Amino acid sequence: MQILDGRLVAQTVKNDLKEKVDILKAQGKKTPHLAAILVGNNGASETYVASKVKTCAEIGFHSTLIRFEEDVEERVLLQKIQELNNNTDIDGILVQLPLPKQIAEEKVINTIAVEKDVDGFHPANLGKMIQGQAAYIPATPYGILLLLEHYHIETKGKHAVVIGRSNIVGRPMSILLSQNTPTGNCTVTLCHSHTRNLRDICLQADIIVAALGKPEFLTADMVKEGAVVIDVGITRVKDDSKKKGYAIKGDVHYENVAPKCSYITPVPGGVGAMTIAALMQNTYLAVTQNKL
Ligand code: NAD
Repeated sequence: MQILDGRLVAQTVKNDLKEKVDILKAQGKKTPHLAAILVGNNGASETYVASKVKTCAEIGFHSTLIRFEEDVEERVLLQKIQELNNNTDIDGILVQLPLPKQIAEEKVINTIAVEKDVDGFHPANLGKMIQGQAAYIPATPYGILLLLEHYHIETKGKHAVVIGRSNIVGRPMSILLSQNTPTGNCTVTLCHSHTRNLRDICLQADIIVAALGKPEFLTADMVKEGAVVIDVGITRVKDDSKKKGYAIKGDVHYENVAPKCSYITPVPGGVGAMTIAALMQNTYLAVTQNKL
């Protein structure tokens, strides 16, 4: 069993980006600038955004963090996004999800300018991605592809089972793995909360991507010997033995599943780290591929 070390691969991606940004700067070109919007005080969202801002600084990108109170009106948030769309100094915009109930997530996503949508959630970006056109690929699936590529994991002809069909992880992941690309050409089964016989389906999988948000859901009896297991889940589970009062759990029962795998991602230190690296990669593309 080999661990797919997301931290290590993410660092490689970030080092490469840092070198590229240094070159941009030396040539007097624009420094990539990411704007992040955070609404409310959700602990997990705070952590994610802080780590995105910190990574921008590490690489040499500019970043701007814009915060709103939990009860911000939708109209105010949309107005801010429009402002950022029109600001030529801003190259990428992300709005940290989830959003409070009074705000329609769909409207927010649709308001971000397609060419600044570095999270790749806008329908126009997803549409392009589906057709294999140049597009921002949603950061988490993109990060997973970078990981598979780094470890030269063969995907061609393999049966991939993706658990979870969200627009930001499971669904795009299933499409990307099925495409005619070096990290694609899988036969994909997309499973969700209404899937029957999930265990039997998983047992047929060469590659499993677990993205359902249920801690330690995937157990050894669902995994065939030698499978590649990618754990996307991040859930805070109460744990009084920890200083913070919680432990981070993935969707895979790691101790139980790992011995059966050829490759597995840990949580933390797997997909999460890659997601941020992929977001940075998209932000770099926003400047250099002007505009996707
Ligand atoms: P979501 O809640 O939007 O979607 C969950 C999906 O899982 C749904 O499609 C649902 O049908 C499916 N599902 C739920 N219960 C199921 C069951 N018993 N059997 C089969 N399918 C089931 O979640 P999401 O936004 O895609 O996130 C999933 C997980 O990944 C969460 O833990 C989230 O925190 C994590 N996440 C991690 C990263 C990262 O960078 N590592 C990024 C995004 C999301």
